[in-house]
Amino acid sequence: MRYRSTRGDARPRDFSDILLAGLAEDGGLYMPESWPQFTPDQWRELRTLPYPDLAARVIAPFAEGSIDLSTLTRLCREAYAGFSHPAIAPLCEVEDGLFAMELFHGPTLAFKDMAMQLLGRLFEHVLSERNQSVTIVGATSGDTGSAAIEAFRGRDRLSVAILHPKGRTSDVQRRQMTTVTNDNILNIALEGTFDDCQDMVKAMFADQPFRDEIHLSAVNSINWARIAAQIPYYVRAALTFGAPDRPVSFAVPTGNFGNVLAAWAASRMGLPVKKLCVGSNRNDILTRFLLSNDMSMRAVEPSLSPSMDIQVSSNFERLLFELLDRDSAACARTMTEFRQTGRMDVPHKAWVHAGETFSGKTLSDEETRIEMARLYRESGYLADPHSAIGLAAGRQYQEQGVPMIVAATAHPAKFPDAVVAATGHHPALPPHLADLHERPERFDVLPNDLATVEAAVRKHVRRG
Ligand SMILES: *Cc1c(COP(=O)(O)O)cnc(C)c1O
Repeated sequence: MRYRSTRGDARPRDFSDILLAGLAEDGGLYMPESWPQFTPDQWRELRTLPYPDLAARVIAPFAEGSIDLSTLTRLCREAYAGFSHPAIAPLCEVEDGLFAMELFHGPTLAFKDMAMQLLGRLFEHVLSERNQSVTIVGATSGDTGSAAIEAFRGRDRLSVAILHPKGRTSDVQRRQMTTVTNDNILNIALEGTFDDCQDMVKAMFADQPFRDEIHLSAVNSINWARIAAQIPYYVRAALTFGAPDRPVSFAVPTGNFGNVLAAWAASRMGLPVKKLCVGSNRNDILTRFLLSNDMSMRAVEPSLSPSMDIQVSSNFERLLFELLDRDSAACARTMTEFRQTGRMDVPHKAWVHAGETFSGKTLSDEETRIEMARLYRESGYLADPHSAIGLAAGRQYQEQGVPMIVAATAHPAKFPDAVVAATGHHPALPPHLADLHERPERFDVLPNDLATVEAAVRKHVRRG
């Protein structure tokens, strides 16, 4: 499989290249040159496979020419061995025909583990084949950083430096990062906001000599390998409800548009998907686009569902590329304009086309609390704020006879304050994290200064 940039300039690459590169050099996102197709019989054959084997079969066509099926199967089995539920992504009927697909049974209790656990192993495999090492640098407001640290800890060819805004992440989220003691992990508490952390990472990438010296790489959600690793759970759920002979719908609480894009990719591969419902908090740029073709940036406001506090959903560019019939020049122009003016001009026909599959729903914090309370009261289901938004979106667009499967993206114990406030019930951390609050923390507090941060990262890479 070859990959092309959504903006057209970058030369085509294979899967291993785009895994390590992340973003294309022209600023675009990598897309597979064509969608792998599964026939109805090929879908049916997947029905009886254990999750890791199914995942390998679904991902294999994307890695064709780079990683063979038996290697992928081994890596998938290792990646999902550490999940605490035997079904990996179990389905739970919350209301009649409305199902929670729980994606939070991995080591850090959020759906990011589903892709990141595999990504860590893919990186290690490709780097050892090439005899290379890289340094992964990332900014996090919570879930991505902990998932990356957990997936990359103790891996020889990788050094990891994660920046979080000092004093601005939740206790559980910070401790999941700072209590990891492997010496390839560096936690930086930056004196600044999450935006400062992101700008710092961008500045390090823009410093070409530094970037080359320590072989910088990134694992943010624009990495296609992460999207590919999120497709299998949609496939598994649909097959459980009778696909390919019967359609299903999905609802997904959305920030960077990565998770729901994976569901859409599954439909491009021939899986019958009726509707894709996007749930947003007050940072509702995607919902505004889907409901009224209004893609205009506003300031990011904090909400009860912090992992969705995003105004520029980077992965939307991939859908746009496809809506524009893969016209990369038009896509590049639209994205440049969006950056300059804060408004994206999507042609009416393309918007109508998106609306045939996608719909959206926004919940305020108050509506999210009401939804959490209602789920607990009426169904006994304890949902975190992100999953509750997904469930409300799913319920709104439910159709008779079509199962509505909702991505439950975080364990309630990851957001205990919001859960207690809405339901009165205190969610317990699972056994492997029960002593999280007693473990010693380790992090460097650094000023918001490029030279200081680069010096710390350099020293970390040269350790021992
Ligand atoms: C990252 C995250 C999301 C948003 O996922 P995207 O792929 O960015 O749309 C939703 N919920 C939780 C708990 C997350 O960690």
